[in-house]
Amino acid sequence: MQLPSLDMPSFPPGWVWLVGAGPGDPGLLTLHAVNALNQADAVIYDALVGEEILRCAPQGAVLEYAGKRGGKPSPKQRDISLRLIELARQGKRVLRLKGGDPFVFGRGAEEALALREAGIPFRVIPGISAGIGGLAYAGIPLTHRDTNSCVTFLTGHNASGEVPESLDWEAMVRASPVLVIYMAIKHLDRLVAKLRHAGLSDERPAALVSHATLPGMRVLTTTLGRAADDARAAGIEPPALFVIGEVVALRAAIGAGDPSAQPSPASCLATG
Ligand code: SAH
Repeated sequence: MQLPSLDMPSFPPGWVWLVGAGPGDPGLLTLHAVNALNQADAVIYDALVGEEILRCAPQGAVLEYAGKRGGKPSPKQRDISLRLIELARQGKRVLRLKGGDPFVFGRGAEEALALREAGIPFRVIPGISAGIGGLAYAGIPLTHRDTNSCVTFLTGHNASGEVPESLDWEAMVRASPVLVIYMAIKHLDRLVAKLRHAGLSDERPAALVSHATLPGMRVLTTTLGRAADDARAAGIEPPALFVIGEVVALRAAIGAGDPSAQPSPASCLATG
């Protein structure tokens, strides 16, 4: 894609750029992300980065998948960091492409620390996080003056894949009228139980948004009490966000309603 005539940085050989690809729709890539893709020699990408986006890399760029595939465990984080270091030491322009924003539940900080320790120069290019862009596509505002002046993002998995125990669930529920939970599907029942136990009402509006911004996007509006059963009945699958709060009820009034009414994803942003 031709970038507007902005002064975009050149990607120096031997550098790693940690880049957020946004939640899926290629139109949500930033100009910096497209600029990075246009120049990369090697792209190390995660499961949530779609093919259309990868097609923006130059022909001849090495594309390496660093996610979980076919039930096989994902490569160890340490191995991914070592691979980035190895490629950078070979003088490649290494693009580490992650879903959403690299520093939001994306382990980007671990990679940045490993690169710093190894003395590899890098920069971070933020992306639109799924909890922001995905909910916007679903017609769910994160804040609204009448309902909330604060929002909390949390993860349904900690480093060992469990519901985070160290969180003060009661304090969080008291303090934050809107909660956005990433990685929510695996432990949905337990997350709902935690939130109810912490004091949230069964009637609190809630939604599950899966494959947000992508052609297969689904939005299920429900309540906290019914969320797990409704999600099972509807066959909601990851990647999905679970949002709880009165803002969900605004969706109907805002009328972004039917996700298929959203513009379809841009076709490949071919390299210029
Ligand atoms: N760094 C990413 C988050 C990585 S964690 C970001 O900033 O968005 C992976 C979780 O992100 C998924 O389990 C899901 O909860 C959420 N997610 C990512 N892409 C999504 C999408 N297109 N639709 C819904 N949820 C998504």
